Amino acid sequence: RPIQIAIDGPAAAGKSTIAKIVAEQLGYIYIDTGAMYRAITLKALNEGINMASNEEAGALLMKTEIDLQPSENGQLVFLDKKNVTEAIRSQHVTKAVSEMAAHELVRIRMVELQQQLAEGRGVVMDGRDIGTHVLPNAALKVFMSASVEERARRRFEENKKRNIETPLEELQDEIAKRDKMDSEREVAPLKKADDAIFIDTTSLTIQQAADEILTLAKE
Ligand code: C5P
Repeated sequence: RPIQIAIDGPAAAGKSTIAKIVAEQLGYIYIDTGAMYRAITLKALNEGINMASNEEAGALLMKTEIDLQPSENGQLVFLDKKNVTEAIRSQHVTKAVSEMAAHELVRIRMVELQQQLAEGRGVVMDGRDIGTHVLPNAALKVFMSASVEERARRRFEENKKRNIETPLEELQDEIAKRDKMDSEREVAPLKKADDAIFIDTTSLTIQQAADEILTLAKE
């Protein structure tokens, strides 16, 4: 019987890479909720709304269509029908996303959308508040982390493949700043659910971490 798997944790902990493998192995859909927050942030930047305003951010999201579609090369992200899969990964968006994601009106709507996407199917969903808010009844909850140095190093390697050359120190700085904002916001802060299983991936390979979750999923 298909189950819901929630994977939360700080930035660049390997959540999406590992969640994708787990979903593929189980024949489940994969939902990257961070991509949804990134998409609305890209639109907010493009439209020049006041990023500090809960009302403006919430209103913008209400007139926005965000679509996630699986493809051979991973998940594609569409913002008002436009493919923004690459655009949402820019440093510009990355640096602004935590401010958008802290707004209550944004989170209420996102949780609604995410719950609709997961409704009644086998799903692996990753984010910051999946186990605590989006899928509180998920059969398996994982909280995944790694040292900030290791996370920055992984992001650096990933960027290299995409010809992005942000210095390692800047990445470490950005990751630490984002974790702090995500953990300290008032609405649905980044937090391990009480019933989540903690996995430290610092010295694990991607496959080892995925295998650990697959084993737990079969229990
Ligand atoms: O997972 P990713 O690093 O792409 O997420 C980008 C940002 O989106 C996070 O730093 C966080 O501010 C926000 N986010 C969130 N809740 C989620 C997923 C992402 O607040 N469930």
